[in-house]
Amino acid sequence: MYTSIIGYPRIGAQRELKFASEKYFRGDIDRADLEKCASSIKMSAWKKMYEEGIDFIPSNDFSFYDGMLDTAVLLNVVPQRYRALGLDPLDEYFSMARGYQGDRGDVKALAMKKWFNTNYHYMVPEIDDNTKIFLMGDKPFKEYAEAKEAGIETKPVVIGPYTFLKLSRYLGKKTEWDFSTDTASAYASLLSQFSDLGTHFAQFDEPCLVFDMTKEDINLFTSIYEKVFEKTYRTKVILQTYFGDVRDCYKEIVSLPFAGIGLDFVEGDKTLDLVKENSFPKDKILFAGIVNGKNIWRNNYSKTLDVLKDLAASSGEMAINTSCSLLHVPVTVRSETKLSFEYLDHFAFAEEKIGELKDLKEIAESTDPESCVSYKNNQKLFSGKRGGGDDAVKAAVKAIKESDFTRLPEFKEREKIQKERFGLPLFPTTTIGSFPQTADVKNERARLRKGEISEEEYEKFTEGKISECVKLQENLELDVLVHGEYERNDMVEYFGERLKGFLFTEKAWVQSYGTRCVKPPIVWGDVSRENPMTVRWSVYAQSLTKKPMKGMLTGPVTILNWSFPREDISVRESTLQIALAIRAEVLDLEKNGIRVIQIDEAALREKLPLRKGDWFKNYLDWAIPAFRLVHSGVKPETQIHTHMCYSEFTDIIKAIDDMDADVITFEASRSDLLILDSLKENNFKTEVGPGVYDIHSPRVPSKEEIVTALEKMIEKLPKEKLWVNPDCGLKTREPAETEASLANMTKAASELRTKYAK
Ligand code: GLN
Ligand code: ZN
Repeated sequence: MYTSIIGYPRIGAQRELKFASEKYFRGDIDRADLEKCASSIKMSAWKKMYEEGIDFIPSNDFSFYDGMLDTAVLLNVVPQRYRALGLDPLDEYFSMARGYQGDRGDVKALAMKKWFNTNYHYMVPEIDDNTKIFLMGDKPFKEYAEAKEAGIETKPVVIGPYTFLKLSRYLGKKTEWDFSTDTASAYASLLSQFSDLGTHFAQFDEPCLVFDMTKEDINLFTSIYEKVFEKTYRTKVILQTYFGDVRDCYKEIVSLPFAGIGLDFVEGDKTLDLVKENSFPKDKILFAGIVNGKNIWRNNYSKTLDVLKDLAASSGEMAINTSCSLLHVPVTVRSETKLSFEYLDHFAFAEEKIGELKDLKEIAESTDPESCVSYKNNQKLFSGKRGGGDDAVKAAVKAIKESDFTRLPEFKEREKIQKERFGLPLFPTTTIGSFPQTADVKNERARLRKGEISEEEYEKFTEGKISECVKLQENLELDVLVHGEYERNDMVEYFGERLKGFLFTEKAWVQSYGTRCVKPPIVWGDVSRENPMTVRWSVYAQSLTKKPMKGMLTGPVTILNWSFPREDISVRESTLQIALAIRAEVLDLEKNGIRVIQIDEAALREKLPLRKGDWFKNYLDWAIPAFRLVHSGVKPETQIHTHMCYSEFTDIIKAIDDMDADVITFEASRSDLLILDSLKENNFKTEVGPGVYDIHSPRVPSKEEIVTALEKMIEKLPKEKLWVNPDCGLKTREPAETEASLANMTKAASELRTKYAK
């Protein structure tokens, strides 16, 4: 039996890569320094895995920004607009990731999308009819050699050709089929070069195989790999899948000449049945993904052993594997100094998962598993009492009535009442909530944490920031204001810290995109609200202006989706508990004079099942009602906004409209406004603010550019329903660029107001 890891966190236990990259972007360090930081992160991961005896250690899972982007560069999928800047390779790479604005030109970044059902984002490669795919880069070889030099044999990891082609965006007439031959040749060259280097195994990640696949998809997949395998190579290929099961193509993949196949036994509902019913070829290694790569709870060894026993009967050689890359969990529990062992004992982050793999191998190979110390300890952990229960919360969830999920009167009537109440101009302008979290804001928070300033001093400081922010917005002539969210480190952690039932960590960072990390709270027990969480700030901010001030909350589905969820009760039940807590906050805001309340569901789509058949019966059936429960108790004249960090909801558009918010703002600028047509077709009732510019890059949009975006929107949407706003919160941006961008935005709105005034 072997042990294997699909990929490892690459940001560093203390987020070293984030800080080094940001310094590099600012010009404070040079490339050599940045590369040194990268090397030390890679090396420490390799050594750790090596010392623990992991047999299949990944390399090339590291990235300066994102693995899809790395693969695009590897395959020469670099759009001309970036090439034309004439930058050196690393800076050209960063220009694709972050956009470029400087003396060489002004180009936007590539589009970014959520990576399957995770909170990780990948850069979407752009392919046009002139794109020529071939093996251009050398990153996988370099990383393999780097580890080899330290005496460590690794399996280089590359996103597979099928997944690469499926996730790319095609700008011209050509489709993935037109590029399949060249792509297959590129991967064949990759294998040939690996063979020259003496690489034993390479891992091709093909998570797209867990989606619903059409016949054509399956043909594309097999035709690519038949070409890749026209020759045989010394380097053997592991086909790695994750985030689900491969029910549509199991038979096809087991009959191709892969040396190993990685299947997901954690999220793949049907994986075990597939293997048992069809059996697994004895001449291949089964990489059994059984240590959860997405959640932080300890593995239950006795359950895992049962699965491994089942598998042993239907397969040959086996490697105990993670269920997906460990990129989605923090680096190590060792960084946590504040939580007690009562909790910590239940956690396994990346490093601890290495230990679990090692334990599991030892136990599985033992003739008497029960006698293994690690097994006994694990059993003790799972049979012991686990606190966190709250009967009052359970009873409150039970007492929810059907009518609690419906807000009255219905939307149309509310819209009329609210138009009258607020008297907003055509194309009202607003922002999504946060304003730049500048160094002073973070410093004051840190000083409060360290006890260097008092609670009162901190509040004074925050009030000062809020008042500056309100003034700025009034000067910019925005219509619906926000308080700026200076008191929040993170939109989920902030609430997690104030709700009962959550645990939070000090260093449990997980990469979200590029240098951005999040520190998800952990849902430990039953959740409830003990005190108001945001009322104080919203009321203060409202006292400074006559314009409507938005109360700003995070919705229950997002809180759950951006936390590490419990595994001992259902996510539905956990979400309803959170919904009741947020509902209490909504009602308190309203009671205290807040007229507009935004409940962010930034991550609602995130855990949408990857297979369509599961959307309504396994997710939206409780996620949408949970949101409705939060706001159904407010008065008709209170305006409920929601915000989403994406615009791909064409396929669930009815469900989004069914959230029954009054206004929804969402990301649109990076996806070319494709959503507008379907809003129109579906007669979308909710008022909409499709983001008019991209806040994920420092670039300042011109007024003209925003006017153009708005004109496109006006073509497709009723003018009366259109709001004008950036596509997400501004907290990661600098003040100067924010002010300039918002000024252009309000000017654009005002220009169109004049043009379209009756
Ligand atoms: N209100 C939040 C903010 O502006 C929303 C952030 C988000 O959607 N990710 O920061
Ligand atoms: Zn957002």
